[in-house]
Amino acid sequence: MKHFDVIVVGGGPAGMFAAGFAALQGARVLLLEKNRRCGAKLLITGKGRCNLTCGETDPRKLSEQFGAAGKSLLTALYAFGVEDTIAFFERHGLPTRVERGGRVFPAGGDAAAVQKVLEQFLADSGVELRSGCRVLSLTHHDGQLQSLVTSQGEFSATTFVIATGGLSYPETGCTGDGYAWAAASGHQLVKPQPALVPVFLAEDWTAEMVHFNLKNVRLEVRQQGRKLDERFGEAFFTRNGIGGPIVLDMSAAIGAALEQGPVTLVLDLKPAVDRELFDKRLQRELAAHNNRAFANALGGLLPKDMIPVFIRLSGIDPAKKCHSVSRQERGQLLKLFKELAMTVTGIGDFKKAIVTAGGVALGDIDMRTMRSKKVANLFFAGEMIDLDAPTGGYNLQLCWSTGYLAGTSAAQASFG
Ligand SMILES: Cc1cc2nc3c(=O)[nH]c(=O)nc-3n(C[C@H](O)[C@H](O)[C@H](O)COP(=O)(O)OP(=O)(O)OC[C@H]3O[C@@H](n4cnc5c(N)ncnc54)[C@H](O)[C@@H]3O)c2cc1C
Repeated sequence: MKHFDVIVVGGGPAGMFAAGFAALQGARVLLLEKNRRCGAKLLITGKGRCNLTCGETDPRKLSEQFGAAGKSLLTALYAFGVEDTIAFFERHGLPTRVERGGRVFPAGGDAAAVQKVLEQFLADSGVELRSGCRVLSLTHHDGQLQSLVTSQGEFSATTFVIATGGLSYPETGCTGDGYAWAAASGHQLVKPQPALVPVFLAEDWTAEMVHFNLKNVRLEVRQQGRKLDERFGEAFFTRNGIGGPIVLDMSAAIGAALEQGPVTLVLDLKPAVDRELFDKRLQRELAAHNNRAFANALGGLLPKDMIPVFIRLSGIDPAKKCHSVSRQERGQLLKLFKELAMTVTGIGDFKKAIVTAGGVALGDIDMRTMRSKKVANLFFAGEMIDLDAPTGGYNLQLCWSTGYLAGTSAAQASFG
């Protein structure tokens, strides 16, 4: 059986970082990935553009994005923070660009470039990579992990890093294997839950409007007329609902509210303009098209695909001349722009969750090294630990920081 200093299981961002940085410490490292290539999930991040980190360089402020437990991440964030991430990718030939909300993307806007950099990093740092290799089971001896049985044989190591991710988007390889191993070796698991999910709506017209992003809109969550939450930013309609950053970030609140009763979303397409001012704008548009049919009046106000839907929802006869549109009809139209109400029917499950909340309990991990408190030669990294954050590059930063810390700690520990 071939022996290594460190074996890393899972070739996602956390595992690739752990393996590469362990090897840079001088350790003989094996990385096991069950897919044909590492980083399958990376390719679909940020809608194929990979929001690889965020603009918050202060570790304390950044840790707050992970909620109260975020403090436990501080060692990892100080060891490898946002500036280190940007410097790492720039050093490896991938310039980055900061966009609205501090979101950092590869300058070329291509997630595949991130995957390539990481593959090259593994090769340059001397990691032995076995892809298409599924870890099937773990063998223990004297309370320590000893070897891994895989689809390509058995391998032993002095220390191990498990970075098999969560349960979301299972087609990318995330089937929760690491959770089962962690639980079987005595770690507490905080129940994994889908997080950052799209929202399903009763309105079937969303299917007609899937081809564009709604930028700079405001979305409110209401229950029995009471505002529960609101966000300003970007969203988009899907075949059966609504998604995008502001929706994902409110999805947990929407899911929780749904358990109490019906939930409504209210969309303001023109939040920078108050109702009165926007009514004047509508009057100007209608006056400009005075003798033409109402069907032609909305071109200056809406993307093309939205126009037929708005005409239908307004209840105004599309053939009616603009000068005959009544004040009451204009009021209906105004409501669609400023207060478009939609009925929530449900939220997405693991199949469409951006991340998995829950995972290996933080109490069972020494977060200064990412070492397990239950199995002395085992380390954890990435999404499989019980930490998650809103959209904005925070979840990948968690992977870079904990991957770096777990990899360097596991290498050091393997040297004795
Ligand atoms: C659609 C989508 C968009 C996203 N966009 C962003 C974004 O823009 N910015 C951001 O910060 N985050 C984003 N995320 C979240 C981010 O992708 C994850 O947080 C991150 O990929 C988790 O990395 P990881 O290394 O912990 O796990 P993963 O990326 O899930 O990798 C785990 C790896 O382990 C392998 N594995 C599992 N079991 C075994 C086994 N038994 N044997 C061998 N290998 C195994 C899997 O095949 C997989 O390759 C997005 C997620 C999704 C689904």
